[in-house]
Amino acid sequence: MRILIVEDEKGIGKFLRDGLKEEGFAVDIALDGNSGLELSRQNEYDIILLDWMLPGISGIEVCRNIRKVNTAVPIIFLTAKDTVSDTIFGLEAGANDYIRKPFAFEELLARIRVQLRTENAETTLLSVGDIELDINTHIVRKNNIEIPFTQKEFALLEFLLRNKNKVCTRTRIIEHVWDIHFDADTSVIDVYINALRKKLTAGEEKGYIQTVRGVGYIVREP
Ligand code: CA
Repeated sequence: MRILIVEDEKGIGKFLRDGLKEEGFAVDIALDGNSGLELSRQNEYDIILLDWMLPGISGIEVCRNIRKVNTAVPIIFLTAKDTVSDTIFGLEAGANDYIRKPFAFEELLARIRVQLRTENAETTLLSVGDIELDINTHIVRKNNIEIPFTQKEFALLEFLLRNKNKVCTRTRIIEHVWDIHFDADTSVIDVYINALRKKLTAGEEKGYIQTVRGVGYIVREP
């Protein structure tokens, strides 16, 4: 899943980016309000973390402007503005959640996962056939046996499973699994898909990830 962080304090931005990348997220950072807004329009983010006090336009203005065109993307304020009225103001500007600095990374992660919960998921497990992916522990199991996955492989499988039974175009896969530094060579997707297929099916004939020729990939129940 891909996250936009709008944060002018480079230390906090780096801390967030490193932590979230370790969790398998693709992460872009904007250092001021205007570039944050610009990036939010250019890319399809799964979640946005937004500071309030920013150079240029404030986080509140960024939030309101995003909401004019995009009501769906979850926005979490992450700010030193810590009064109850600040929190209410932030939520009324269109944010889904509000976290005060200093914050605990584990709590931020939990709140991000709340926002990313799939429609009917009371669980943190995604599955297809005998494959199970646990979003919290980052463990993939086949028939209850753990399979080792790299972060990127995990992120790709998570995205495909969140969109089970829907075609994922190559463009959407890049948008949601890779960050802004992706060099546009889409063949890297095929390399990762092949790696997933090997790990998931281990030589069996029936695969879970099907190619939709010229378009992308789809995960279906067998
Ligand atoms: Ca700030």
